[in-house]
Amino acid sequence: MTRFQGKTALVTGAAGGIGAAVVRMLRAEGARVAVADRDTQAIQAEAHLPGNLLDPAYADGLPLAAAQALGGLDIVINNAGVITRGTVIDTSDADWDLSLGVNVQAPFRISRAAIPLMAKSGGGAIVNVASCWGLRPGPNHAVYCMTKAAVASLTQCMGMDHAHQGIRINAVAPNEVNTPMLRTGFAKRGFDPDTAVAELGKTVPLGRIAEPEDIADVILFLASDAARYLCGTVVEVNGGKPVK
Ligand code: NAD
Repeated sequence: MTRFQGKTALVTGAAGGIGAAVVRMLRAEGARVAVADRDTQAIQAEAHLPGNLLDPAYADGLPLAAAQALGGLDIVINNAGVITRGTVIDTSDADWDLSLGVNVQAPFRISRAAIPLMAKSGGGAIVNVASCWGLRPGPNHAVYCMTKAAVASLTQCMGMDHAHQGIRINAVAPNEVNTPMLRTGFAKRGFDPDTAVAELGKTVPLGRIAEPEDIADVILFLASDAARYLCGTVVEVNGGKPVK
């Protein structure tokens, strides 16, 4: 398929599990891609924009940097994220700043900078990565869940506000995905990641947790013309296992 021939895209969190799949699949379908992450050296892409999303000037400047490097900006995938664990009682100021900074402030800054660029060139698509845990509560991850609820809400609001400019803004809300984020969490708690992923898979009606490509396929759909009438949606991608 060449759904993205001639299109340009910025992907944050491009070195991570879901981000790497998105970059690979967008490029396989013809897109020219600018990758953003703390270290992008190992990623194959048309433009490399490494940096720390906690730096406001970096986040503010990413869309223009991508547009200049690629000759335009049609698609933004706000995928980078961090997970901090614990109830609010366990949450330090540093956890709060990190979670809000990467998960909420960065997509806000990037979207705020990307929307005028896209409007000027006739439109575009932004896809944010929320979480099932932003739609309903999850145990012992209060601030993470809150940040993902914020992303879902921001998506719904921006989707409504900018549709008239030809900019479609949507989100995916995955449940568990087999990525470094999930696996390092298991390892930190003393579980073998492979065993834990297999056990977790048994709790999913489809019989396995998601692989990054399962989520990337939906992200690409939302970024594509096939989703031309979707604005402000949050698509739950959960293998039949909604968070209760
Ligand atoms: P991951 O840890 O593999 O990738 C996240 C990427 O974001 C990393 O490459 C990391 O370097 C980057 N990043 C984090 N902080 C950054 C910063 N300050 N500056 C620049 N880059 C930074 O995780 P993933 O599972 O691929 O997560 C991608 C998205 O999916 C995240 O928003 C996450 O919250 C969301 N999500 C993941 C799961 C899951 O189970 N893995 C479930 C629901 C939602």
